[in-house]
Amino acid sequence: MSRTRTALVTVAALAMALSALLAGPGSAAAAGPLPACRYDDVVTKYRLYTDWRRTLLDTIYKVPRSYAPVDRADTSYAGLNGGYTVRKHVIYDLKRMAAAARAAGARFSVQSAYRSYDRQAAIFKAEVEEYGYKTALTQSARPGHSEHQLGTTLDFRSYGNYTPPWDYADWGTTKAGAWLKANAWKYGFLMSYPKGKSTLTCYTYEPWHYRYVGPWTAKAVRDSGLTLREWLWRYRH
Ligand SMILES: [Zn+2]
Repeated sequence: MSRTRTALVTVAALAMALSALLAGPGSAAAAGPLPACRYDDVVTKYRLYTDWRRTLLDTIYKVPRSYAPVDRADTSYAGLNGGYTVRKHVIYDLKRMAAAARAAGARFSVQSAYRSYDRQAAIFKAEVEEYGYKTALTQSARPGHSEHQLGTTLDFRSYGNYTPPWDYADWGTTKAGAWLKANAWKYGFLMSYPKGKSTLTCYTYEPWHYRYVGPWTAKAVRDSGLTLREWLWRYRH
């Protein structure tokens, strides 16, 4: 083995060790390829309330009906419109994000935040009645599968405009939507279902739907270029 080759191998080994370190515990358990979009009811692996950063929810994985974090606070504590709740640990960064958006002239409001299993069941039922089961599946989560049940996920809308974001052609191109798309990660929030990624996320594009994973994880996911579902599957499952 040449000296150059040895050096390269050493660099590769170091890179692997570093990525294993960054990926954290659990990363060694290779999860295999990302499952294709299908509908199932598998209880997700990491479902403690302390697992909020890594709880994988999609069309396959779910949390049980009893998953209902009580450590929640009203969104008014973040300087936003109230009547919605998120887990308390989300408030600090949500408040910072709301203030920064306001300062940038891209003020947003809360359209939805924590939703219980039963509330999600009612929403999904209404979606089915309006659009039919097949379409409802692509744009709404079945109960247990919604990130809103985690208490760390919000839907946003433009401030001073009560039109729901999904009634826009592309809310992501509005002042607030575009600002969030560019900046939310800095505050620990990620758009779970980005444009053009439906085959990976299993949901249609939702520029208003953001899940809080904390600034450090949000940066790691953003740097990876992966959607949150892929990233959680690869590094946290
Ligand atoms: Zn949502």
